[in-house]
Amino acid sequence: MQNQISNWAVEDKKHIGSIENGINIDHIPCGNAFYIMKILNLYKSEYQTGIGLNLSSKKIGKKDLIKIENRELSAQEIQAISLFAVGSTLSILKDFKVIKKVILAMPDVVHGIIICPNKRCVSHHHVSQFLAVANRNNLIELKCNYCEKSFLLSDIKEYNL
Ligand SMILES: [Zn+2]
Repeated sequence: MQNQISNWAVEDKKHIGSIENGINIDHIPCGNAFYIMKILNLYKSEYQTGIGLNLSSKKIGKKDLIKIENRELSAQEIQAISLFAVGSTLSILKDFKVIKKVILAMPDVVHGIIICPNKRCVSHHHVSQFLAVANRNNLIELKCNYCEKSFLLSDIKEYNL
């Protein structure tokens, strides 16, 4: 296991260099870096940011990667990005060293981000609220609090970001 982690670290340096202080979100499912950039408002921020898209990964085949120098994340931000980064690794770096590493998990409740795929759902006129209801066969299912229909995370395509 230790070996694997150091291999990933080598992989990252190869991709977009290392950062001194800040955060590294690695093994983001391909295509989801875009949503995380929006949630963290990276388009308008002054933080030095490295973004890798479609990088090769020994662990998940292809991945996205975001590194932000001197940035910290609030608990609320971590919860919001987790929807798009289930299984990703969030590392906090200080003086080029990883001081904390967490695997991001699906939040129990997702508030206001998901647009319900059910076109007739009343939540289109309110702030949506989804509950993570099941995790069968490694598939994440979310249930709309308004129409009570469940959807696979992979079938949810529209977000309010
Ligand atoms: Zn709904």
